[in-house]
Amino acid sequence: MEKRVLVLNLDHSPVAIVTVQKALVLTILEKVSCLTHYESLVIRTVDREFRYPAVIRLNDYKHIPYKGVMLNRANIFRRDSNECQYCGSKKQLTIDHVVPKSKGGKTNWLNLVAACNRCNVYKGDKTPEQAGMQLKSKPFKPSLGFFIAEYAERNAEEWIPFLDLRTA
Ligand SMILES: [Zn+2]
Repeated sequence: MEKRVLVLNLDHSPVAIVTVQKALVLTILEKVSCLTHYESLVIRTVDREFRYPAVIRLNDYKHIPYKGVMLNRANIFRRDSNECQYCGSKKQLTIDHVVPKSKGGKTNWLNLVAACNRCNVYKGDKTPEQAGMQLKSKPFKPSLGFFIAEYAERNAEEWIPFLDLRTA
């Protein structure tokens, strides 16, 4: 898997997680400075090699209105550690409305969880109580800091010196 790049604001507060392609474009446009690289990786083009950025910092301070983490399948799976929230399976994951839509359940972070296809079909149009099922953990709205800390722990120890772990 291609490693992601952490973007910090001029004051070193985290701004985003981007692809390496995006990080290179920002570097070429001189919008960012690279603070650290993934030592074991290089980027090869036809005739050149580049160091692979791990953490970059914007060269100008930007006021970035914080819109929160986007609610989508990939981010729900990430929050739920790619595990069915009923049985723990990592296979055939789907999105389940904890309280079904037909019973007034909302489409938001607090009512959507990862569920394997089997559990989702078994649960059907019922609440967990009605189906006799139990959630492994209470759904929550993740912050950017949550995803950054989680990614750093699994894939990018290079980020850790740049994180304020009190807020992550
Ligand atoms: Zn399941």
